[in-house]
Amino acid sequence: MRVFLNRHYVKPCITNADTIRTVEGYSDIIVLRHFESGAARRAAATAEIPVINAGDGPGQHPTQALLDVYTIKREIGRLDGIKLGLVGDLANGRTVRSLAYLIAKYQNIKIYFVSPDVVKMKDDIKEYLTSQGVEWEESSDLLDVASRCDVIYQTRIQKERFGERIDHYEAARGKYIVDKKVLGVLPKHAVIMHPLPRLDEITVDVDSDPRAAYFRQAKNGLYIRMALLKLLLVGH
Ligand code: ASP
Repeated sequence: MRVFLNRHYVKPCITNADTIRTVEGYSDIIVLRHFESGAARRAAATAEIPVINAGDGPGQHPTQALLDVYTIKREIGRLDGIKLGLVGDLANGRTVRSLAYLIAKYQNIKIYFVSPDVVKMKDDIKEYLTSQGVEWEESSDLLDVASRCDVIYQTRIQKERFGERIDHYEAARGKYIVDKKVLGVLPKHAVIMHPLPRLDEITVDVDSDPRAAYFRQAKNGLYIRMALLKLLLVGH
């Protein structure tokens, strides 16, 4: 199996169709992480081998959504009827965008968006959820949301997406922290998830609580991505 993982190596020229044509001569699959939204879609339009979007800027992160949905199913036992709190940088965090998109395929989903004002969930996802009949609401009260949810999905404020607007970053960071107080109101059966890496948005004293699912979640990524590669290379 030859899998071409670009990560940082060919970033500056990956949008160039010649690069994709060259790389596909070396590999069976291209796994593309890129800083621009839509880069994987463009690469896939050129490539004749499968392209996996491993995160395109503030766009999407579909393999993360697959492992997140798998984790929810394993941890909670079901996907239909899930109440999900998406917390943190919802404007620039691609994982929450992809998860909202994927979870909308299930029945009776309720999503709470909890984010600083400068990084609210964008309208394209809200409109999509509404079109799919998914109930959603915005809240500024993390404790209230945590007391109602099956899953609290915390995210990092994506500093690298703020550019010069460092005042916006400063306004956003530290506003919503998952700590012992949040654990205190979280239902017994519920879990805390995070796509990692974590900065300070989940305090480390949360890690020892059985409801802290983020390292189990990260491990599930190994299995889900192995399964995806197998599916693409050898089929079912
Ligand atoms: N690892 C995730 C991503 O690639 C989350 C993050 O970077 O904060 O989007």
